[in-house]
Order: sequence, then C-alpha cells, then structure tokens
Amino acid sequence: DTIGGNLDRVAARVPDSDALVEHARGRRWTYREFVADVDALALGLLEAGIGKGDRVGVWAPNRAEWTLTQYATAKIGAVLVNINPSYRLHELEFVLNQAGVRMLVSAQRFKTSEYTEMIEQVRPNCPGLEQVVLFDDATWDALFDRGRAGDAARLAAAQAELGADDPINIQYTSGTTGFPKGATLSHHNILNNGFFVGELCGYSEVDRVAIVPPFYHCFGMVMGNLACTSHGAAVIIPSEGFDARTALEAVSAERCTSLYGVPTMFIAELDHPDFDTFDLSSLRTGIMAGSPCPAEVMKQVIDRMGMTEVSICYGMTETSPVSTQTRADDSLDRRVSTVGRVGPHLEVKVVDPVTGLTVPRGESGELCTRGYSVMLGYWEQPDKTAEVIDEARWMHTGDLAVMDSAGYVSITGRIKDMVIRGGENVYPREIEEFLYTHPDIVDAQVIGVPDARYGEELMVWARLRAGAPELTAEALREFCTGKLAHYKIPRYVHVVDDFPMTVTGKIRKVEMRQQAKDLLG
Ligand code: ATP
Ligand code: MG
Repeated sequence: DTIGGNLDRVAARVPDSDALVEHARGRRWTYREFVADVDALALGLLEAGIGKGDRVGVWAPNRAEWTLTQYATAKIGAVLVNINPSYRLHELEFVLNQAGVRMLVSAQRFKTSEYTEMIEQVRPNCPGLEQVVLFDDATWDALFDRGRAGDAARLAAAQAELGADDPINIQYTSGTTGFPKGATLSHHNILNNGFFVGELCGYSEVDRVAIVPPFYHCFGMVMGNLACTSHGAAVIIPSEGFDARTALEAVSAERCTSLYGVPTMFIAELDHPDFDTFDLSSLRTGIMAGSPCPAEVMKQVIDRMGMTEVSICYGMTETSPVSTQTRADDSLDRRVSTVGRVGPHLEVKVVDPVTGLTVPRGESGELCTRGYSVMLGYWEQPDKTAEVIDEARWMHTGDLAVMDSAGYVSITGRIKDMVIRGGENVYPREIEEFLYTHPDIVDAQVIGVPDARYGEELMVWARLRAGAPELTAEALREFCTGKLAHYKIPRYVHVVDDFPMTVTGKIRKVEMRQQAKDLLG
C-alpha cells in the first residue's frame, strides 16, 4: 500500500475521529477534514509543477503544516526531505544541494532562528531550489487555493502512478556520531514500520498520542504520525519545540493516552516542579526510544506517569526506524531493561564485528537487521550504503547488543563509544545504568578519555539533583567500589548543567570527548 492510499482507507472508516490537534494554537482536524486539506495541498503541489520523484524539503518545527506536507507529498510521490530545525546556513545549504531540493516548505521562524532570512542567504548557492513556500504566508495559502480550484482527477491520476517501493522520503540521521547521512526510504519501508509500531502499542481511534520528538526525525514522523494515521488514532502536537511543562499540559488538556519521548525528555518531565499539578490519568502507553533508556527512568514513567503499557523501541533512521520493541505483556523486568524482541516480519542477529559470524546467545556483538524496513540506501552515496548494507541485505547497525535465549535484545552501547581501558572492553552504558542508582545523580554519561598508561580512562559527566553536595571523583569512586569491577570505576568526574545534545535530545558523546580533552588539558 502507499501512504496516501492507506490514509484514504482509514479516513473512510473513521471520518469524524480526530486526526490532528495542534495544542498550542488550538487547531484541530477530523480525519475527513485532514484528508480534505492533504488533498488540496497535494493538488496544489501538482499545479505548482511538483510531481513524482521531485524533492520537497521541509524545514520547520512541529506544526500541523509539517504533517500536512508529509502526507501531501506522499500522495503525489514527491520525495519529502526532512531538514533538522536546528540546522543553520551551512547545513541547510548542504542538505538542499545534496538532496536536490526543488521546493522548500518552511516556517518563517522558530525560537530565535529567522528561517526566512537564512533561506534568502543560502538561495544564491542553491541553483536547484526553485520555489520557497512559507507557513503563515501568502505562498502557503496560494498552494491551497490552487489545490482547491484544481482538477481532482489530476490527483487521482498521480496516485495511480505510485508504487509502494518508490522512494518518498529522505531522512538525515541525527549526526550523533558524525556527519548526518540521508537515508532514502519508500512508502513500504515507513508505512509498514509505523503500522506495526502502532499495532504493538494497541492503537485505535480512541487513542490520542502526544508527539513530543521532532517530526523531522523518524520518531516523530513514522512512530508518531504514521503509527497514528494507520490506526485512526489522533496526533497531538503539544508545542513547536520540546518544553516539559507544555508537554504535560497537553497530555492533561487533550486527555492523551500515549506520550513519546527520548529519555532526556521524560527525565525533564518527571523532574518538573509542576509535575504533580497535572492530571495524567488518561495515559495508558507511550514510547521511550532513541538512546539508552535507563531502567530507573522507565520505572518512574510506569509508576508516576501511569504509562503502564509503555514500550521501549530500538531502531535507527536507516531501518525506518524500529527493529525491536517491548510489548505490554513482557515481564516488567524485560520492559525496563531490554529493548524487546524483533518486530513483525523482521529479522535481527548479533554478529562478531570482525568475523561477521553470529555469536552465541548472551554474548555481545554488532546488531544487524534485515527485512522490509531496511532503507533503499543513502541518497546518492552508494559507497556509504555498501559499508552498512551487505550483499544479503543485512543492515549493520554499529550498535553493540546482546540477545538472550528468549530473543530479548539489550543494547550495550555503540561500537564507536566503547572504551578500551587497559585492554578490557568497557561499555559506558553499563556504568551509566549503575550511576542512576546514586542518590544525587539525575543523569550521568560516561566517555573514554585518552590516557598514557591505560590507553583510555573513564570520565563521568553528571547532572546533580538541586541542592546536592559537591560530587568529587574520590566520593564517586568510593560509591562504585565493591559494586563495579575495578577497571569500570571512573577516574574523572565532571559536573554539568546540561550535556551537548542533538535536537532530538541525543547526547553527543563525540562533542563530550572533544571538550573532555580541553578539560584535562
Ligand atoms: P548518526 O548515525 O548520524 O551518528 P544517530 O545514529 O544517532 O546519528 P539515529 O538514526 O537517529 O541517528 O539514531 C539511531 C541510533 O540511536 C541507534 O543506532 C542507537 O545507537 C540509538 N538508539 C535508538 N534507540 C535506542 C534504544 N532504545 N536504546 C539504545 N540506543 C538506541
Ligand atoms: Mg546512526
């Protein structure tokens, strides 16, 4: 099926259910209204000369227009190019040119960023960029007007041309470990992935899902938007960018049944001084994903937020994204400490990164995924694609994992983050999990720093509870002694207010490692 075809079918089944709600602006669409606007925009794009295979960039925070653009481009087979809202001139120009964007759809501004100005600045360097359409502007209204006045048969004809395996989306990876790469994805890739994620969350038209992660990322647009629309659930947008208080307020006001976030977002919500003033009793489920999900945080999400069925998903942009997911009927222990089992119609295996052979259950290795979810490839980077997808179509994730005898997967870290101290492999993740049990530590991140004697030493960056006493390296080592093997006990402690992060809320350890070098002189 295609994304547009699926939307039409669902909308015909639940025309009067809410499809989309923008909490901050109080705007809402039922499925009937949503499809009408998607169709008007889709036809408007056709009338503006955009067709199958043309790249349409979207550079904007979480707004209803983002979602409308996502579905309108899918309906006509244009390739949506997701552009990170925190990009600046250099990155914007790179993506527009790398993906060959013909039309850019954008907000005029976001927080302190004047998008309109930045677009004007890069435009002379982007010869392929023919049209710019801005929200809250005549250019956006004009697209709609042309679409409403257009010939509906033209849209039907465009839809009839589509194939489920056509590319319809280029998503850039988060850039956690280096420069972002453009994963090219088909209807089949992301629609199926969204559908199965929604199915495992038990979504139906009674569900209202608060989508806090950015739409530009697969967490927002696939696990969020597509999981909802393929099951007739409502997409609730709390605010343009992440704000812990507004997220809680939207859940409460819109009676959301599900809430999404990366661990740092849930930590901020749980830690918010007004937490107790919000009625979160409508919450049933949700998804935590994107980076290691500490068991302690998961437990609090279940106990304090009442998200009794919350699941952890593991995945990556290149695999549409989800490969494994915990389910409501898994044991509590597995639901807080593993990333669950392989998703429907997918395969995963754990291999020795050197020999490529599958390792015995219980041993650590590189996780690989195969099946419908694996991307078509990196956009115009066949060499990079060949580095990660092998001849048998296995995607090599670069993540270290252990699979137990029942098939539950635990992510032990990224190959690039593994620390080798005195010849011993240390997985920062394991130490971070342990540090969450420290009474004064709210959030902890562990990295390796160069060391003349041991090759690498461990350094902790810690965020402390308000009013906590100073945390010295000696005190922390004492806390670890007897509980962690000696070579896993961190040598250095650096107390911080915030970590260097991507806009998706992922911690950029690359940057921490760079800063650490300066800290240590
Ligand atoms: P880049 O590839 O540009 O360095 P990135 O890998 O962070 O950035 P994404 O595709 O957004 O970009 O993220 C996928 C990665 O996120 C996975 O490879 C994995 O390392 C991490 N991840 C996702 N979900 C989980 C999870 N539940 N537990 C642990 N890690 C996770
Ligand atoms: Mg990656």
